[in-house]
Amino acid sequence: MNRVLIAEDEVRIASFVEKGLPASGYTVMIARTGSEAIALAHSEDFDLLILDLGLPGRNGWQVLEELRGRIILTAQDDVDDTVKALENGANDYVTKPFEFVELLARVRVQLRESVSTKTTAPQTTLTAGDLVLDLLTRQAWVEGQQVEMSTKEFQMAEVFLRHPMQVMSREQLLNRVWGYDYDPGSNIVDAYVKNLRKKLGSDRIETVRGMGYRFSP
Ligand code: CA
Repeated sequence: MNRVLIAEDEVRIASFVEKGLPASGYTVMIARTGSEAIALAHSEDFDLLILDLGLPGRNGWQVLEELRGRIILTAQDDVDDTVKALENGANDYVTKPFEFVELLARVRVQLRESVSTKTTAPQTTLTAGDLVLDLLTRQAWVEGQQVEMSTKEFQMAEVFLRHPMQVMSREQLLNRVWGYDYDPGSNIVDAYVKNLRKKLGSDRIETVRGMGYRFSP
């Protein structure tokens, strides 16, 4: 069973997560302060940490510095914080106020990924709903129909499928698909996202204003 640690000082949020996650099969522990979260993370095994940025004592940034592993950061809406969180090791970021179902979906994505990385067999296909990428033959299918893609389109689709629900900045996409020496001012990423939307379906890749793109399976 997956174990989730929640570092949250707002009683209302802590209690709905504490009730909701066990109902979905997760074991939950709660820390009310940053120091408590660090102490618990060192003394017990957790598969995922849901970390509030605004914690008393040591805040979320300080906790993020100390701990590694799968982390979903939660905080008030702030584009700068979101980017900083992802750069500092958080796997995902949820803006408050959030619905429990949204958090649950992100928890599932993170823990499904961690399970699949434990398997030793090399992964040759990536699947997201009715979208399938064959990494060996470089073929793609949508709803059972094969879709023609250029090499770069395929690579970008692969990056998105490997990071479902995660906001990918233009720079991250540029680095992963074109390499680090590409001009960051280029709008090539937007052009390719436009192509991918045509080929894969426009609602799969969401624009996150001021930040980048998010792939929803
Ligand atoms: Ca707080």
